[in-house]
Formats: sequence, C-alpha cells, structure tokens
Amino acid sequence: MLNNSNCRVCGYALGFAPWGENNSDPTWEICPCCGTEFGYEDSTIAGVQQARQRWIEGGARWFDNKAKPANWDINLQLKNMHWGELDVKMDSKNVEISTDSAFMRDGENAVLIKYSHPIFEANIFIPTGMIEQLITFLQSNLEYVKIGTSCSNDIYWSREGEDVYILVGADREAWDICLVLTPDLISKTIAGIKMSGLY
Ligand SMILES: [Zn+2]
Repeated sequence: MLNNSNCRVCGYALGFAPWGENNSDPTWEICPCCGTEFGYEDSTIAGVQQARQRWIEGGARWFDNKAKPANWDINLQLKNMHWGELDVKMDSKNVEISTDSAFMRDGENAVLIKYSHPIFEANIFIPTGMIEQLITFLQSNLEYVKIGTSCSNDIYWSREGEDVYILVGADREAWDICLVLTPDLISKTIAGIKMSGLY
C-alpha cells in the first residue's frame, strides 16, 4: 500500500523517494506542492498531521505555483495517497514502550501506551475498560478489534501473520497510519500494560 515516492503530507507523486529508498534517509528537498521539507515537518506522525492540516486549512495552495499541473485535482491526489499513509515497521531494536495513566476525550480513565521510535512517537490511548479485551486480542488468533484512539482517530488492531498492525484512521481500509508490531513488541506491549498497574 505504501508508495514511498509520495509526499507524506500532501500525497503528491514526487517521482523520487523523499525519504530515500529505505524510507530512513531524508533528502531535505522541498515538496513543490505543499512546501514540506522532507526530513523536517514530516519526520513524525504528529508533524505530518499538523503540516497536512495547516496546508489544507490554508487552502491547499501550491508552494511552487509554476510546478502546478493545469489539471491538478486535490481530491484525486488525496485519494491516490489513501488520505496519507505512513507505514512504520517497529521492532524492539528501535522502539521503546512506556505506559502512563491518561484520560480519553470524554474524561474516561485510560492507559496511554507510548511507542518511541527514532523518527516518531506514537501515543495510543486505551480506555481502562477495554484493556482486558486488548490483551485478550494480543494473545489470541483473532483477526481484528477496534479499541482506543490515536491522533483523535479510531484504532483497528489487525493481525497479519505473526504481526499485529495498528491501523489509525477512518476504517480498516482507509487508514492514515499503520504501525507494525512484531511478535517481540506484542509481548512487550502486554508486559508494559500489566506493569503499569492501571487496570
Ligand atoms: Zn507535499
């Protein structure tokens, strides 16, 4: 699903990989469409979301108007990028997990699971009442559950072979962000939740 030659912020097909072929070597070039500097605003999930929101609320103007195709259609561009995908494969070599007590937007008690990676930090909010169900899912072979929020979006936990994908977005097909939990991180997530003593 991920096309790594699209701008992470606006989805423009750049014709080159803004973060290098391995997705970890930013080119520091400027997106002609939204003006994002690759490696700067788009280096964290929160940064991508903020930059995208700023760009769209500002009228989705082209940074380099000379490069704008005559028949440019923002909806087509956004559709092409599935409304902004950002896939990140995590494993225990590059991710640290911590847990803390937090609140959902409606004030419900929650557990905050924080995944800290060199290029991003993902904050996953799980209502305390759903923790048991999440742990059950992580230890089972169930296909998917919808539990918790991140970046104000719902989270779908989806099993793909040995891995669990944390899909953040409108639904399981049109998600914005995909975080891949390898088996070692699934175990660490369960251990982190249990150690927090928050449920
Ligand atoms: Zn862009």
